[in-house]
Amino acid sequence: MGRWAEVADRVWVRRHEELDLSLGLVAGERACLVVDTGADEVQGAGFAAAVRELTDLPWSVVLTHAHFDHSFGTAAFGGCPVWAHPGCRADLAGHAETQRSHWAEYYRARGRPEAAARLAAARVVLPDRPVEDVAEIDLGGRVVRLAHPGPGHTGHDLMVDVSDSGVLFAGDLVEQGAPPSFGDAFPGAWPSALDRILASGARTVVPGHGEPVDAAFVARQRAELAQVAALCLAVTRGEIAADEALARSPYPAEFTSDALRRAAAGPAPRPPGRDRS
Ligand SMILES: [Zn+2]
Repeated sequence: MGRWAEVADRVWVRRHEELDLSLGLVAGERACLVVDTGADEVQGAGFAAAVRELTDLPWSVVLTHAHFDHSFGTAAFGGCPVWAHPGCRADLAGHAETQRSHWAEYYRARGRPEAAARLAAARVVLPDRPVEDVAEIDLGGRVVRLAHPGPGHTGHDLMVDVSDSGVLFAGDLVEQGAPPSFGDAFPGAWPSALDRILASGARTVVPGHGEPVDAAFVARQRAELAQVAALCLAVTRGEIAADEALARSPYPAEFTSDALRRAAAGPAPRPPGRDRS
């Protein structure tokens, strides 16, 4: 089902073969924080049981973003507080059923009806602790900082900074073992979001998929994302053809074409709160 790795004192990552998913746990003296909940309630329940192998502390959940593989396991954690960006709640309220039918079809087409059935049965939980910009959670002797670094992998990513340990959970803003996913991304803004991660000073960055990485890896991915952003801009301005962008991209064509489609759809949303007087 999964395996734990303690990446720093009472900071754990649980690695799953399914989708190469990485889920997180941070424990303080009075409470613990669960980072993402898995792709359905069965995976969520397995993760919750694995958390209970490590700690009896009361838990709350933070969702890094609304993609089903990070958020559809939340019901397994009961009625606990669930932190997320307001855009994550809006996405789950408005598009969870679209995700459910799209991915159920994906699993059925690949001869995985049991995964489709689990997805169909998962109850979606809407986050009730909004984090527009920054929030701090005191776990007892340890404060975890949640922050929205601006649009990137989605319009509502949150990063989870456990600064006393030098560990930061990045959700899918960072990917190891596969290229970053642009399906709901804001390619032009994504490099700036990684600048926020790099500015945190984290020594270990836990991606949403793949193994934990260091700051040098994040800097390399930032440079690749900046290359993709520049190619998207050049296509939008009519300076190069889409085929040329696909050929010059550091990523495979199916990833880059998602980026081009997203870039053509328009600029990133304004950072929340910045347009208020
Ligand atoms: Zn994602």
